[in-house]
Amino acid sequence: MTRYVYDFTEGNKDLKDLLGGKGANLAEMTRMGLPVPPGFTVTTDACREYLRTGRMPAELLAEVEQHLRQMQNRMNKTFGDAEDPLLLSVRSGAKFSMPGMMETILDIGLNDASVVGLGRQSNDERFAWDSYRRLVQMFGRTVFDVPAAAFDDELAAVGGVGADLSVAQLKDLVLAYKKVFHSHTGRDFPQAPHEQLFLAVGAVFRSWNAERATLYRRQERIPHDLGTAVNVMAMVFGNRGEDSGTGVAFTRDPATGRRGVYGDYLRNAQGEDVVAGIRNTMSLSELATIDPASHRQLLSIMQRLEQRYRDLCDIEFTIENGKLWMLQTRVGKRTPAAAFVIAAQLVDEGTITLDEALQRVTDEQLAQLMFPSFDTAAAPPPLTTGVPASPGAAAGAIVFDSAAAAAATEPVILVRRETNPDDLPGMIAAQGILTSRGGKTSHAAVVARGMGKTCVCGADELVIDGDTFAVAGRILRAGDVISIDGTSGKVYPGSVPVRPSPVVRYFEGEITAHGDPLLAAVERLMIHADHEARLGVHTNADTGADAARARRFGATGVGLCRTEHMFLGDRRELVERLILAEDDASRAEALAALLPLQRADFEELFAAMDGLPVTVRLIDPPLHEFLPPLEELTARVARAEALGEDPGRDGTLLGAVRRMHEQNPMLGLRGVRLGLVIPGLFAMQVRAIAEAAAARVAAGGDPRPEIMVPLVGAVQELETVRAEAEAVLASVPGTPPIRIGTMIEVPRAALTAGQIAGAAEFFSFGTNDLTQMTWGFSRDDVEGAFFGRYLGLGIFAASPFETIDSEGVGELVRIAVERGRAARPDLTVGVCGEHGGDPASVSFFHDAGLDYVSCSPFRVPIARLEAGRAASQAAGSDSR
Ligand code: PEP
Ligand code: MG
Repeated sequence: MTRYVYDFTEGNKDLKDLLGGKGANLAEMTRMGLPVPPGFTVTTDACREYLRTGRMPAELLAEVEQHLRQMQNRMNKTFGDAEDPLLLSVRSGAKFSMPGMMETILDIGLNDASVVGLGRQSNDERFAWDSYRRLVQMFGRTVFDVPAAAFDDELAAVGGVGADLSVAQLKDLVLAYKKVFHSHTGRDFPQAPHEQLFLAVGAVFRSWNAERATLYRRQERIPHDLGTAVNVMAMVFGNRGEDSGTGVAFTRDPATGRRGVYGDYLRNAQGEDVVAGIRNTMSLSELATIDPASHRQLLSIMQRLEQRYRDLCDIEFTIENGKLWMLQTRVGKRTPAAAFVIAAQLVDEGTITLDEALQRVTDEQLAQLMFPSFDTAAAPPPLTTGVPASPGAAAGAIVFDSAAAAAATEPVILVRRETNPDDLPGMIAAQGILTSRGGKTSHAAVVARGMGKTCVCGADELVIDGDTFAVAGRILRAGDVISIDGTSGKVYPGSVPVRPSPVVRYFEGEITAHGDPLLAAVERLMIHADHEARLGVHTNADTGADAARARRFGATGVGLCRTEHMFLGDRRELVERLILAEDDASRAEALAALLPLQRADFEELFAAMDGLPVTVRLIDPPLHEFLPPLEELTARVARAEALGEDPGRDGTLLGAVRRMHEQNPMLGLRGVRLGLVIPGLFAMQVRAIAEAAAARVAAGGDPRPEIMVPLVGAVQELETVRAEAEAVLASVPGTPPIRIGTMIEVPRAALTAGQIAGAAEFFSFGTNDLTQMTWGFSRDDVEGAFFGRYLGLGIFAASPFETIDSEGVGELVRIAVERGRAARPDLTVGVCGEHGGDPASVSFFHDAGLDYVSCSPFRVPIARLEAGRAASQAAGSDSR
């Protein structure tokens, strides 16, 4: 029989699927003997069942009642008792943390009778009536969608925020809130505690499908069918006077990774007040002076949690009349820099192995660390400095509301007093987020860090008023450009120039890692990744400069040089001459003019990659791509004719373009087909490669060129080209050994890989074309046309042109590897499509047994890291 409810004493941290992250961790803390209020978790199974049927399963009701009875016995209090009521909090908690996305309801169990009991029992009537007011409001909003403004209007009418109100005013407010409740729902505020509880649990279940939660999951790629668990816990109160309060803390600094606890505490406050960032907070060291005993206990608990989770933890706690209670913990979110620094620290501290450290960082984080930041030397004086909440450099026009940010077509900075979950669409759309209130743990900060978005918060000198804000004696308006620095917290007027990231400068060899904790951590993990990796990382580069940079970034070869890029610019005219040549002699002349240019290009490339393989691909695109477009030529010729002039060369070109026009050029005369049709073209390129290599050898270099034939579908194509190439190579004295191989980018090539390997010493998967031809998706047209719809329908989770479609295209890769290696065991196999730099795809290529991936220079470190991560995956235990 399915069980729907687990007491906190029954679960543990590994049961996140069933109990959600929060429930599993509350259970773990309970097991550890930490001071967690008693409670139980309603499972994600129950949520899925509820969402499927629209009803609470009958067993669930019975189980909840039974667990409630246990809790009442343990606490010697009765739920909703008129004299001394047990009150409950009801909180969502999915497997993956979704900060602020779903619902929480506090003080369940208060009603017209128990509010009196609570006042008497706590000796604090104000507190009791303030709690009741909060319950009616939270319950109305969450369970019955009563608009927040309806309650806010009543609050404004009695003249203030809750903390300032007298008991009489609070009683009036409760009456007013109950009227609001009635007028929006057509029913009275429920007085029965059990009814309150079940309605609240149902509301939390439903909040899984709220728009903002769905959007957040899409953004974070969290599956939609997991459901949330619900945690029901005995209330403890941080708003019971100056010896009470509530706080959040991290066991290390989540922004930089620096050792030492870090947190915010808010005196005489309840629950969400800190996370909402509404009031300004005090630091943990200030807590040490006002409540040293709780502070000491908190530090020792945080240390134990780190040992247990072997990672940075964040916690939420409450102090009620001097007694500390733990309300939540989890492995905490952190910035990319902190992720690297903490992973290396934990290795130093002997807590985790280097293999595990590799699993604690992601390629996405490394990519973010390679972003540029502001050039502060060129920046004007800052307008103000806020709390640096999420790193990065962002500039854009000011917008003051989320809808405007979401609708903007230019880069924008979302400026708010504070954010709440409704701002999510705007936060996603904006380049950066600036708030005037709240600390590093405010909603804006937590969500921005999760999204890797630049955020400065708590810039409390900003006075926001409608569509303007005032700061430092200036008024800025919506549309004015500002720059925000999420690393320093500075806010600048105008658009500040950016400078390269230190991590990139380190990879470039401009600075060393010495003395810099972040660079030292990156260095350490990259060394280990390279050591573990089975996949090599090559680069796609067409120039010596790109190849040299990629080599500094750690590439161990060029996996793809697209030689057609050498036919552009002022060389176009030579290509035109080649195309227009009407006889062998003029064609030979055109090719002879191209030869020295190609040779010089190759020499430069071989020099930059001296001692490492350089795979040169013979020309691929249809030649008419090098001629002016048909429409342009037609117009030029028509204009000349209208003026009675001779169109001259344009006339000849137009004839050629018309002759060579193809309906589907991607499936037309390109690649190996071109080489077989245009006499001498491939031979010229092969000669240029051979002569460049011979020249490098003569100059004392160690060139390692390889020749790669594109778009092969049948072994006969390759055999013909190969025979021609071998003859040319043999005719150039001093040529070093040069391997000849092919791209696998036509499905037929993958299927006949066994035959093709007979004529190829290496394969390189052209997964761009292979994806295009396997799906039948035109790679130049489909992304903007209908991929949005396909992604929405879940036909694929990511564009197959970005992340390899492992089931379809990937199957062809596996088939080709297997058949190719069966025919030629020493066949080298790589990939040079865009997928070579995509982390998820790199992991697939590792599994498929490739020898290397090849990607653009800036992706090289990311591919290296992923290659290491893929190899060490089995060794490391994944704790997140
Ligand atoms: C490919 O098709 O994946 C490839 C690398 O070649 P290109 O992108 O030049 O067609
Ligand atoms: Mg291709």
